[in-house]
Amino acid sequence: MSIPKTQKAVIFETNGGPLLYKDIPVPKPAPHELLINVKYSGVCHTDLHAWKGDWPVPTKLPLVGGHEGAGVVVAMGENVKGWKIGDYAGVKWLNGSCLNCQYCNHTDEPNCDDAVLSGYTHDGSFQQYATADAVQAARIPAGTDLAGAAPILCAGVTVYKAIKTSGCKAGDWIGISGAAGGLGSLAVQYAKVMGMRVVGLDVGAEKGEFAKSMGAEAYVDVKAEKDVVAAVKKITDGGLHAIINVSVSPAAMQQSVELVRKKGVVVLVGLPQDASINVPVFDSVFRTIEVRASYVGNRADTFEAMDMFCRGLVKCPIKIVGLSELPGVYKLMEEGKILGRYVLDTSK
Ligand code: NAD
Ligand code: ZN
Repeated sequence: MSIPKTQKAVIFETNGGPLLYKDIPVPKPAPHELLINVKYSGVCHTDLHAWKGDWPVPTKLPLVGGHEGAGVVVAMGENVKGWKIGDYAGVKWLNGSCLNCQYCNHTDEPNCDDAVLSGYTHDGSFQQYATADAVQAARIPAGTDLAGAAPILCAGVTVYKAIKTSGCKAGDWIGISGAAGGLGSLAVQYAKVMGMRVVGLDVGAEKGEFAKSMGAEAYVDVKAEKDVVAAVKKITDGGLHAIINVSVSPAAMQQSVELVRKKGVVVLVGLPQDASINVPVFDSVFRTIEVRASYVGNRADTFEAMDMFCRGLVKCPIKIVGLSELPGVYKLMEEGKILGRYVLDTSK
């Protein structure tokens, strides 16, 4: 397979600075890495946070963003085992980890101190050729629709893990706050497949129609509804068993504490800048509610989330545009105008 010396990428040199669509060198895989010819990459809200520099952890600069890259293995370092040229592989947020610390040993690899993050501390999938640690790279079965599979690599894995973290059982009411977004549209589907009854929460009627088309049994428009807490309690006969927060709204996260019933679980996933929530101790103890956090997933979560996609149990609602159109996608994302996920075709 012939590998070019240069490739198209979107790269930025300063946080919030110009997003340059240009030719850059094709990276060389390190001994433990795969070189993946990325065909499609989803655009996650995390990529927007990374570009803007929203979080207290600095990004690499200059940086090629992206961490939902689905493609084909075209080369590999000399220490790589278990992969062959032509395999389908995915670049995910957790590019690599030490595999030897207390967190990795307990399969909490995202919490590893030495975690390498695609599109954050390591150049990601907004380029035609990306490198990924061969141990952490996602396995995508031959013949899979790579454009459709791309959002599973972060959005799918993350929400599947978050639903497991919630402890919800079949028949329980689960709320998805941010239900029409990239993570939310998949969360609604995974929760339904896992037997839960889903209340979607988002902004506007169009997002409601969309969340229902993904499988939400009920929808609450948080802007139009005067009393969101009362509306959710009415639908669920007393409150949600759990809520997954995938919006980028601190106010929605704060309110989610009131939407769960006694013994309910609030799961934090979305990462708005400088956000915190306040949980009154008395209320928390008397109602015995819990606030948990969920951060992407490990290799098993990745396998399971991808397997459910490949078996047709969940579908990624995607819109495909060219890699060069990333700035326009960020603008729509910032304005809250995206339904589901935008996926970039790296050949355009
Ligand atoms: P997105 O922009 O596609 O979706 C966000 C959704 O939230 C939109 O549909 C928007 O309309 C909705 N929303 C806005 N205000 C709301 C409100 N007040 N109430 C309810 N919904 C509201 O974003 P995404 O790609 O799905 O990512 C969501 C967040 O999750 C980002 O902050 C991202 O960084 C974070 N994230 C976290 C993890 C993790 O491991 N914890 C992984 C991936 C992404
Ligand atoms: Zn992501």
